[in-house]
Amino acid sequence: MKFEVTILGSASATPVYNRNPTAQLLNCNERQYLIDCGEGTQQQLIKFGFKASKIDYIFISHLHGDHFFGLVGLLSSLHLNGRTKPLHLFAPPALKEIIELQFLHSDTRLRYEIDFYPIDATKPEVIFKNNDVTVETIILNHRIPCTGFKFTEKKRLRKLVIEKLEEDAVPVEYYPMLKRSVDVDLPDGRSIKYLDYTTDSATPKVYCYCSDTMYDERYFSQIGGADTLYHEATFLHEMLDRANETHHTTAKQAAEIATKVKAKKLLIGHFSSRYKTLEALLEEAKDGFDATELATEGKTFEI
Ligand SMILES: [Zn+2]
Ligand SMILES: [Zn+2]
Repeated sequence: MKFEVTILGSASATPVYNRNPTAQLLNCNERQYLIDCGEGTQQQLIKFGFKASKIDYIFISHLHGDHFFGLVGLLSSLHLNGRTKPLHLFAPPALKEIIELQFLHSDTRLRYEIDFYPIDATKPEVIFKNNDVTVETIILNHRIPCTGFKFTEKKRLRKLVIEKLEEDAVPVEYYPMLKRSVDVDLPDGRSIKYLDYTTDSATPKVYCYCSDTMYDERYFSQIGGADTLYHEATFLHEMLDRANETHHTTAKQAAEIATKVKAKKLLIGHFSSRYKTLEALLEEAKDGFDATELATEGKTFEI
């Protein structure tokens, strides 16, 4: 099953040096989930060959402009391009009012429905579940209410050992039960144990998205063991005072967090516009956590 994330925007605050404000596209089993929608997200989708019409779920972390200023434009384009299927939007409660006001004054009546889910930023909760993935909020520590998102793949059914099943002539109609860990009694009197004919499926993978936040151990338990942890790293550690003041994280701190929570891989992003190049940020993070990569725009990472 495909489980990967493509970076559409990696800048904080303002678009600079060919970097766009934050947005990511998660592909889980060929369904697209948009995480944040900074200005320019539509253009980035086009640039990297994605169809906005395929997105059915959008998650917005908080109401700073660099995380949602691209949203109304995207919603409007979907309408103009004839969308009729509903769109599921998970976001801070006030975003509903912002969207409605914009469309009210432009006399826009969307052809499709927005199924709006207001996020409670005071406690973590499961906000979405389907056959592929579960999405849970992560309570971050930012200047305004802000949540990260934890995407956990759904555990797949057990895998059949076809060779053995055929060798012992187990009828095909019993395969689905064995996959669901059920032992079966055949009409010929044989008892078939699922453990003898199936193997366990892969351990579900976890992707954690943490932007924006300052270092705060309260959310560490939630992101423990993530296969891929995206963590903001707005500044170099020499700017720690500024990071604390603005409720952001330094590259060194992001690495420390990845180490503490035993993440397998760290992606850093949300880079300040003060950095023209990103090597120093990468170096600083790699110093503390070697398996770090820059969340560079257009790059796709397998979770
Ligand atoms: Zn931001
Ligand atoms: Zn912010």
